[in-house]
Amino acid sequence: MKKQSVAPSLKFDTKWSYAPAPESADHIQLKSQYELFINGKFVVPSSGKYFDTINPATEKKIALVADANAADVDKAVKAARSAYDKTWSKMPAAERGKYLFRIARILQEKAREIAIIESIDGGKPIRESRDMDIPLAAAHFFYYAGWADKMEYAFPGRTVKPLGVAGQIIPWNFPLLMAAWKIAPALAAGNTVVLKPAETTPLTALKLAEIFQEADLPPGVVNIITGAGATGAAIVNHPGIDKIAFTGSTDVGKIIQKALAGTDKKYTLELGGKAANIIFEDAAIDQAVEGIVNGIFFNQGHVCCAGSRLFVQENIADLVLRKLKDRIETLIVGDPLDKNTDIGAINSKEQLNKIKSLVKAGINEGGECWQSSCAVPSKGYWYRPTLFTKVAQSSSIVQKEIFGPVLAIQTFRTVEEVIEKANNTPFGLSGGIWTDKGSKIFKVSSKLRAGVIWANTYNKFDPTSPFGGYKESGMGREGGLHGLQPYIDFN
Ligand code: ADP
Repeated sequence: MKKQSVAPSLKFDTKWSYAPAPESADHIQLKSQYELFINGKFVVPSSGKYFDTINPATEKKIALVADANAADVDKAVKAARSAYDKTWSKMPAAERGKYLFRIARILQEKAREIAIIESIDGGKPIRESRDMDIPLAAAHFFYYAGWADKMEYAFPGRTVKPLGVAGQIIPWNFPLLMAAWKIAPALAAGNTVVLKPAETTPLTALKLAEIFQEADLPPGVVNIITGAGATGAAIVNHPGIDKIAFTGSTDVGKIIQKALAGTDKKYTLELGGKAANIIFEDAAIDQAVEGIVNGIFFNQGHVCCAGSRLFVQENIADLVLRKLKDRIETLIVGDPLDKNTDIGAINSKEQLNKIKSLVKAGINEGGECWQSSCAVPSKGYWYRPTLFTKVAQSSSIVQKEIFGPVLAIQTFRTVEEVIEKANNTPFGLSGGIWTDKGSKIFKVSSKLRAGVIWANTYNKFDPTSPFGGYKESGMGREGGLHGLQPYIDFN
């Protein structure tokens, strides 16, 4: 291996002074209080309780949101069952498809408003919610709309039938996109739904409920109920639910799996990750550095498939590290609604504290920590992009999912070594390979135990492509034809 020479760090002014370019939020329509969406209407929770959803960039309250209890969950499940029995399962599949197309089109019309709400409620940069989350959510409705009346082509030679009522529980990192991932295939296959968004990001799911009203979706076909873990548990344990689709932490995934053991409910779990991004000496290094930055920093690391471990071939390690630091110094952390922002707010105070404590543990274990010198706003929840070097395979920073903008860097010499190291984690959701050699891509990707492997790119999504994990990253696939399968039974 020939060691590449490393030019000194570029001495450009790293505090790029872009003029602020804030997205105007004047036109968004938000209520001060949100009720539960059950049977096509917004209804007051029988719990009588509400919680605040706050803007993590300002710590200000945005709205009050209903906190559903078990009685509310029961109402939602009954509404979904009745809609399934009387309307949705009886409707010709092509008609179901038309509703999905209509939802997709309305979503596109309202894309700008919903992107802004996503960024205000969750803290992610507007560039991401505008260019990725919302267009992809609409694309999922379009994609599954197309399958609704073509199930005999999706599963040739087999007769399929829907399962009934699906309970769906989603996290806060891609709130609307996760709702679309789950609702669109469920409805296309003829099921009805009770969905619970995460307690810190309920607003875009509630806007989606308004879109269902506008699309005249029959009452009860989708019910959106808000609340925290107890509400989610009430969905999981409700006897009227036929299938659970969950995306969230591995800890909660295990609780759900235990709760479902011995029942005949079907389930899919999309859980945590600790993805390895691998750069070989023959990679296009600038392109790889950009992909690595995109993979871990652009959504504050709030991505289960985030490339949070980096393996660099030893002879290019100094060069890659220097280029990474240079690039990271140019990243702008701040107002999620500013179009220049690269890294927005951490989703909640709890999440920020978790990141801080894992970074502290990494330092205590002997890791070398480097952080960008960028400024961060005084109010709100922020975390500077952070690199760790001199970490061992056993370091907590290498083994635990952090869900923040923190990258652990290790080196390797041979292909065999990096495969071994990359697979040495309880997770197996995703990975990335950067090399000029196609044969190396095939060799390494076939040996990595991860559900999704990107080559010379990262974090690319498409509704036609299945997504899901191995090991503690979960079971089942979402997206593509694979994503329809968990919502059907074969006759
Ligand atoms: P994250 O770490 O991404 O916040 P969680 O697993 O804590 O992931 O949360 C994901 C979703 O699961 C949220 O909607 C949350 O309210 C819900 N949830 C939390 N605890 C439970 C539980 N015991 N049963 C069902 N759902 C739960």
